[in-house]
Formats: sequence, structure tokens, C-alpha cells
Amino acid sequence: MSSFDIVIVGGGMVGATLACTLADTPLRVALLERSKLDLGWPAEGFDLRVSAITRGSQRIFETVGVWDAMVAERVSPFREMHVWDAGGSGVVHFDSADLGDNTLGHIVENRVIQKALYARLTQAQNVDLLIPATIERIERTADAVRIVTSQEQSLSASLLVGADGSNSWVRSDAGVQVRTWSYEQSAVVTYVHSEFPHRETAWQRFLPGGPLAFLPLTDGFSSIVWSTTPEHAAQLLELDDAAFGLALSDAFENTLGRIDQVGPRAAFPLRFLQTSAYVKPHLALVGDAAHTIHPLAGQGVNLGLSDVAALAEIIDEALRRGQDIGDMRVLRRYERWRKADNLAMLNSVNGFRRLFGTNMFLVRWLRSWGMNLTDGFVPVKGLIMRQAMGLSGDLPKLARGVALR
Ligand SMILES: Cc1cc2nc3c(=O)[nH]c(=O)nc-3n(C[C@H](O)[C@H](O)[C@H](O)COP(=O)(O)OP(=O)(O)OC[C@H]3O[C@@H](n4cnc5c(N)ncnc54)[C@H](O)[C@@H]3O)c2cc1C
Repeated sequence: MSSFDIVIVGGGMVGATLACTLADTPLRVALLERSKLDLGWPAEGFDLRVSAITRGSQRIFETVGVWDAMVAERVSPFREMHVWDAGGSGVVHFDSADLGDNTLGHIVENRVIQKALYARLTQAQNVDLLIPATIERIERTADAVRIVTSQEQSLSASLLVGADGSNSWVRSDAGVQVRTWSYEQSAVVTYVHSEFPHRETAWQRFLPGGPLAFLPLTDGFSSIVWSTTPEHAAQLLELDDAAFGLALSDAFENTLGRIDQVGPRAAFPLRFLQTSAYVKPHLALVGDAAHTIHPLAGQGVNLGLSDVAALAEIIDEALRRGQDIGDMRVLRRYERWRKADNLAMLNSVNGFRRLFGTNMFLVRWLRSWGMNLTDGFVPVKGLIMRQAMGLSGDLPKLARGVALR
């Protein structure tokens, strides 16, 4: 049996970032990931999965020393955001210059994030990467957990972290209750090249079937996230590139002109999930394992990165006080800190989705009025921008750019 202080199950963006926050500390850490890592890719094209990384998340990456590697690979800043309503006249335009800032955030390909995180982890003296490995059994004692993998490795730890995504095995094994439902939408993702430049702007048009986002990439390309009914998504996947380009520019009111190049396409079903608890004795849940939301506000992974920054800070404090990191008195602090913040974001994203999902005349009129009112009121826009940039609320040290040690 190998003995660790912390075993993290799930080496996605959130689990791997947690491992980076713990790299080169006195803690012994194991990161278990079931899929083989695929960190090489062809020079041409982009990852179909991208994330709008907030300024707060950027600071977390900077503080743990992985941001420069992402910049060296490829990141795309967005300085403005333009949101408008297909069902009315509402328009809101956000500009980082209104905050005296350079960017609102960056669009980063998920594989670029993963590559930078794993480059850091392979240099860490105290992190064992168990990849590929799948968790098979967990045994709990009063002061530790024992984990058995399908590769017949046996590990013990004071703290088990479930970072294994929306369908978390760790969460269900621990009997944590969830509230979940389908948004009855799928997100069609691809990347396209348009006739007119995107002007480093993130564009989002709210259509009756769901929001359509154009997110700026390099060389005049944009990443597309088109949330729509599952039936429409299936039709969009069936179209040839020319027909898809036409459907896309039409749905986008030709804002960036003709679509002259289309990448491969994929669709992801969208669902909401919220857990009753983030912690149990010797267990903490982070990222999509604890909460999964609609991508319309581009906040899913950013919330997960804030979870990780808060958990790392609480572990650090516990170590300084000589406390057991798996003790509920320690873990409850993490839960109290993150649950309230996450809940506020989950509720506002769900509220937005409902508001834009209705076709009732009065609601359409009111939302147009509300959007235009917001657009004309710079202080309110400033508050919204700071929230969306991950710069407001009770920020963990790492999200403020302060190293833990
Ligand atoms: C279309 C779309 C667009 C999005 N855009 C954005 C955006 O712009 N900005 C944003 O912030 N968020 C965005 N999100 C949300 C974001 O992608 C997720 O919140 C994020 O990927 C969650 O990361 P995670 O590491 O918690 O989980 P995951 O990415 O699901 O990673 C979980 C990992 O655990 C591994 N695993 C699972 N089970 C086991 C097991 N039993 N044993 C070992 N390993 C296991 C998996 O292989 C995986 O690597 C988007 C989501 C979608 C669907």
C-alpha cells in the first residue's frame, strides 16, 4: 500500500490545477486519471473545447506558475463582449477599457491548459501521476481512506478529492445527494473562420433555442458554442460545411460576414447539477463533481478553479495549525466558502437561461428594456464585468495573485 496525504481522482483541468497548487509542498499527493493523456496535436486547427478564462483564474494559473506556458502555446485575449437578444431589441456591450483594464479574459483551448498543467506536474517532486488508472473501491476508516484502483494499486490518504467531473464516481460512492436536470439543450462546438475580423470581441446572441457564442481565437478564427435543442443540434451536425456555415452566419445575423472555413463539429448534452454537500469526513468535491452549469456565462471551469484555490488555502492553513486535513472542522470551512459563491452563480445563470428561454411578449419587452438600461449605466456594467471576470466576492489568495507559501 502506498501512503499519501491527498489523493485526487480526476486529472481534468480542475484536478490537475489542484495538484499544481500542492506541487513541491511537504505533502505527498497522487493524481489519478482514467484516460491516457493526449498532449501532442497537429499544428493545424484548434481544440473544439475552449474555455473563457477569467482574470481571477488567470491569476491562479500565474501564481502556480503555469500561465506563461499557456501564453507560449496559444491564448486569445478578448477585450470586449457584445450580447444581444434575437427576440427583442436588447443589446449590452462590455468594454475592458471602462474598467481601465486591457482584457476581460482569454479564450484558451482546453488542451493548451492541460498541457501546461502536466508540464508543471511532471517536474513536481511530491506528485505521483497515476495515469491511466481508474478508481474501483474506497474503504473508509476513522482517520483515513483506502483507495483501490482497477490496476490493483492500493493507496491510503488523509484526504480524497473528487475532481472526476459531472458523473463523479467518488461523489456517488460517498452517497452525496444531487439535484440535477437536463437543460433540454445540446452545445454544438466547432471553430470557424469569418469574412470580417472578430475584433478581439466575445459575441453572444440569445436565440429562442439557446445562446450562440463566437469566441475569438487567433488568425481570424472563432470558437463556436451554439446551444440549441437536441433535435436541432443533431441536424447541425449532419449538414455539410457550406450549409453549416450558412446556417451559422444566418443565426448570427451575418455579424462577422460569410463563414469561409469550418472545423470539425461535436455536440455535448447540457445539464445542471448541484450537490447537497461538498465535503464528508476525509472527502472534498471540486469542480464539475460538485456543480455543473450551462456554458452561457463561461463560468464552469472558473468556478472549479476557485474551488481549488480555496481548498488549497484551507489545507495550507490546517497544516500551519497542525490540524488533520481530512477533519470535518477543516473541510467545512471549504464548503462554507465555496458553496455560497457557487450557488449565487448557478442561480443567476439559471435565471438568465429562463429569462431568454421564453417567448412571452411581456418578458421579451422587459428583458430588452433591462438590457438597454444596463447598457447605458456604466457603474452597473462595471459591477457585472468584475463579477464575470472573477474579481469580486471573497477571493482566495491564489485568485488575488498571492502565493500560499
Ligand atoms: C460546450 C461547453 C463549453 C464550455 N465553455 C466553458 C467556458 O468557456 N468557460 C468555463 O469556465 N467553463 C466552460 N465549460 C465548462 C467546463 O468545461 C467544465 O466546467 C470543466 O471541464 C470541468 O472540469 P473538471 O476538471 O471539474 O471536470 P472534467 O473536465 O469532466 O474532468 C474530469 C476528469 O476526471 C476523469 N475521471 C472521471 N471519472 C474517473 C474515475 N472514476 N477515475 C479516474 N479518473 C476519472 C475524467 O477522465 C476527466 O479527465 C463549458 C462546458 C461545455 C460543455
